Amino acid sequence: MKLGIHLESILGREPKSDAKQTLRPILRPFATLLLIFASAHAVAHGNAATAAKSDRSIDFPDVQGYQTLVVDLHTHSVFSDGHVWPKIRVEEALRDGLDGLAITEHLEYQPHRADIIHPDRNRAFEDASTSAAGTDVLIIPGSEITRDAPAGHMNAVFIRDANKLLNDDNAPEDDADVMGYYAATKEWPAQSAVDAAHAQGAFIFWNHPYWSRQQPDGIATMNDFHRQNAEAGKLHGIEIANGQNYSEEAHAIAIEHNLTFIGVSDIHDLIDWDHPPAEGEHRPVNLVFARDRSLAGIKEALFANRTVVWFRNLLIGKKDVLIPLLKASISVVSATYREGTQVLDVNIQNHSDATLKLQNRSKITFMDAADIISLPPHSTTNVTMKPGKRKKRIKIKFNVLNALTQPKQHPVIQLTIRPSLDAS
Ligand SMILES: [Zn+2]
Ligand SMILES: [Zn+2]
Repeated sequence: MKLGIHLESILGREPKSDAKQTLRPILRPFATLLLIFASAHAVAHGNAATAAKSDRSIDFPDVQGYQTLVVDLHTHSVFSDGHVWPKIRVEEALRDGLDGLAITEHLEYQPHRADIIHPDRNRAFEDASTSAAGTDVLIIPGSEITRDAPAGHMNAVFIRDANKLLNDDNAPEDDADVMGYYAATKEWPAQSAVDAAHAQGAFIFWNHPYWSRQQPDGIATMNDFHRQNAEAGKLHGIEIANGQNYSEEAHAIAIEHNLTFIGVSDIHDLIDWDHPPAEGEHRPVNLVFARDRSLAGIKEALFANRTVVWFRNLLIGKKDVLIPLLKASISVVSATYREGTQVLDVNIQNHSDATLKLQNRSKITFMDAADIISLPPHSTTNVTMKPGKRKKRIKIKFNVLNALTQPKQHPVIQLTIRPSLDAS
């Protein structure tokens, strides 16, 4: 293993209902209690059918007739430079409540090839598929095409045969010659590998374009290779978040070239080591708004650019998908004036896994907070507002500070509050 560790250090580790705003006031206190109970129950997630689900399960509401599916499109196992068997990736995915998982091995960089002989590059997918049989996680076939800059690393997912994305005709005989194998196989033009993936109907994205080993200033910059592939319809997405990193420049490239926003773990070790759930952390994922819960549904949504990236506590997406997700994530469960006053108690429920940070943009001020309120995940928060007089309907706008449509640009949502006006 010492050899493996040494060689890896040469390549380097990768960077780490429409709104369904049920705004009708809850008139009876016990109804409110019921909602609070429902909210508390939602925190527990899980059911008997998916025993592995737990508090760490990533859970966002469905939107606009789509199912919100959670996918990680970039992970590794022992079949390239990861350190766990595919079954462990599947088990982690179940624990995290993922709907879709791709194990995307480096085709060319194969540090364990002397120990684990697998001339068939589909082995990780096959093994994961066997492990996932009968569970709730869909295994997505994929591979990582591994080159130096400018092509860098690219993932091709929804492929049919990984072997066709690799040419090892000139590889050395010696199985232990990992770097010789890598040097020989990466000579095959990146364009040939992209073309082979494209011929299989793959969804192809550019991985960690800001990786300082290939981009020393860490600033993702569009280059001719990726521009030409994007224009030719052979590059469909770009990682804006990978492991511990988010790139504003990659985010801007995604917008300029209409590439799907991708957020992934790119995990090599254990998810729990890199993103400890006990500390409230989670792996970066794509939330995919799919017509149905299937591989075809995920693929269609990725090509259609209906995704949001969830990275740390940030929700990053295009306005047309992010706003509906935020609207579905927030509802007003009750709004009641305090007896004999014009002071309004508003209970706002957060149906999502994110801690929503809202900045007040309206003239109405709050009693128990300044302009920023924080709504913890899957719970109801009371905000006391001072509208000045008893109104039937109050509209209030917020900047969502933990969400981004563009670099440095936070979306705005509007809540409509209809207070109960019974005599008091
Ligand atoms: Zn990579
Ligand atoms: Zn990778």
